[in-house]
Amino acid sequence: MAVTRTFSIIKPDATRRNLTGAVTKLLEEAGLRVVASKRIRMTRDQAEGFYAVHKERPFYNDLCSFMTSGPVVVQVLEGEDAVKRNRDVMGATNPADAAEGTIRKLYAESIEANSVHGSDSDDNAAIEIAYFFQPGEIVG
Ligand code: ADP
Ligand code: MG
Repeated sequence: MAVTRTFSIIKPDATRRNLTGAVTKLLEEAGLRVVASKRIRMTRDQAEGFYAVHKERPFYNDLCSFMTSGPVVVQVLEGEDAVKRNRDVMGATNPADAAEGTIRKLYAESIEANSVHGSDSDDNAAIEIAYFFQPGEIVG
């Protein structure tokens, strides 16, 4: 299994409840290494661009408002099969469906305020990493 990278966001519902460390601990315990991390307040333009794939979905506007409602922590995670490894520890989008022990089961407030984002493919991971990080900001 190859060591790969994925992109993660600790969302505003989690930073508001001071869960940055708790979430990061679960990521690290799942075998992921934080090789870049910064706390930012996303602009509306950044959020709309990041979630452009969901533009036609009914929740798009609310989602962009939520993602700009407070600070987020954007991270690059490295590990074996990082995209899948991260999706597994995140749990299902809707916390009601998330498995025991996953970040969303433990911490998500709702299907929208679900504490974390994780890339869904290697290709999207590369695109999302480049959206928020310069190559020199990533130190493996
Ligand atoms: P995931 O984050 O698990 O990859 P999606 O890519 O489908 O899920 O959706 C992106 C984000 O949009 C979700 O993490 C969640 O914050 C929000 N979202 C998804 N589905 C809904 C919904 N039905 N109602 C409100 N918000 C949603
Ligand atoms: Mg997604």
